[in-house]
Amino acid sequence: MLKILFLSTSVGSLGSGQGGGVELTVQNVAQELLRRGHQLEIVAPEGSWLTDIPVTTIAGKLQVPVQTLRRDQSICLPDNSVLAKMWDYARQVQQHYDLIVNFAFDWLPFYLTPFFETTIAHFISMGSMTDASDRIMHQIIQQYPGTFGVYTQSQADTFSFAQDCKILGSGIDLSLYQLNPYPEASLAWLGRIAPEKALEDAVAAVNITGMPLKIFGKMQDQNYWSKICHDYPEAPIEYLGFLDTEKLQQELGKCRALLMTPRWIEAFGNVAIEALACGVPIIAYRRGGPAEIVRDGETGFLVEPDSIAGLAAAINQIEQINRLTCRQQAEAEYSLVALGDRFEAWFNQLVNN
Ligand code: UDP
Repeated sequence: MLKILFLSTSVGSLGSGQGGGVELTVQNVAQELLRRGHQLEIVAPEGSWLTDIPVTTIAGKLQVPVQTLRRDQSICLPDNSVLAKMWDYARQVQQHYDLIVNFAFDWLPFYLTPFFETTIAHFISMGSMTDASDRIMHQIIQQYPGTFGVYTQSQADTFSFAQDCKILGSGIDLSLYQLNPYPEASLAWLGRIAPEKALEDAVAAVNITGMPLKIFGKMQDQNYWSKICHDYPEAPIEYLGFLDTEKLQQELGKCRALLMTPRWIEAFGNVAIEALACGVPIIAYRRGGPAEIVRDGETGFLVEPDSIAGLAAAINQIEQINRLTCRQQAEAEYSLVALGDRFEAWFNQLVNN
C-alpha cells in the first residue's frame, strides 16, 4: 500500500473543464488507485470536486494556461498564486507520503523538485510548450531519471528527453459509457474551445458535407468562437455547452463520428477513448495522440493533417465503420484496470528505488 499525494493542475479547478483532459485523468487514476487500497490525498484549486473522492482545496489565483504563451515567454506567477500555495502545502505534509505526483504543466513544480525530501513524479500532460519549461524539465529528468510520465510516444517526441519518459497512455471507467449502436445523422466535436484545437476545420468540413455538427466543451476563448461563427454563418453547427460525463456520453453516443482536428500535437485526446467507449468512430488528423489511438479504417479514419477535403471524404465513408469494434477497442486497450496497472508499476518503481 502506497501513500501518495496528488497535486492537480493549477490552471482550473477539477470539474471545471478549464484544465482539459488531465482533470479526467486525475479522477481516473485516483479512483483506480483507491480501489486497489492505496492511500491518496488530492490537492487542487478551490472549487474542485471529483466523483466520490475527497479533495483538499486551496484558494488563490489560477495559473495562465501555458499553451496561450509564446515559446520565449518568461516564467510567470500571479500574485497570491494557487500553484505556489499548493506546493507550499505539499512541502508541509510531505513527510506523510511515499510519493508526490505533479499533474501541473508548469515551471515551478519542476524547479522545486530538488528542494523536497519526498520523491516527486511528474505526469506531463502536454507536448513541448515553452523554452523555459523545456529547460527545467530537461534539467530535472537528468537528476531524477524515471520520474517523468507522459500519455503517448508522439507527445514524448516533442521533447529532447523523449527516451526518458515513461509512456502511460490513458484509460476511463468504461462502466460509465454505453455503446449506442443506433446513431442519428450528426457528428460530434468535443473539447476546450481554443485555437490549438482548430475547431474551425471541423466546421469547414461540415460546411461542405452538410451533416450537422454538435459541439461540446468548455468555452475557453470566446473571441475565437465568435470568429468561427462569423466565418461560417451557414454551417450546420450547434454549441451545447460543457456537459458532465453522464450527459456527455449520452449525447456523444447519438453521433455518427467524433471529429478531432487539433492543430497542435495533441498529447493524447481523452475524448477519443470516450468516443470509442460509446461506439463512436473517430475522424482525426494523422498527428499526435489520436494517430496512435485510431485504427485507420477499423475504428475511424486518419486524415492528412489540416486537410478539410480529407475530413469531408472521411465523413462520407463513416458508415463503413462498425461501432461495436470501436467499443471493443476501448475495452481491450483503455480500461481503468489497464491504466491502473501502468501507473501502479511506475509508482512502485519510484518508491522502491
Ligand atoms: N469534456 C467534458 N464535457 C464536455 C466536453 C469535454 O467533460 O462537454 C472533457 C472530456 O471528458 C475530456 C476533456 O474535456 O476529458 C478534454 O480533454 P482532451 O484530453 O480531449 O483534451 P485537452 O483539453 O486536454 O487538450
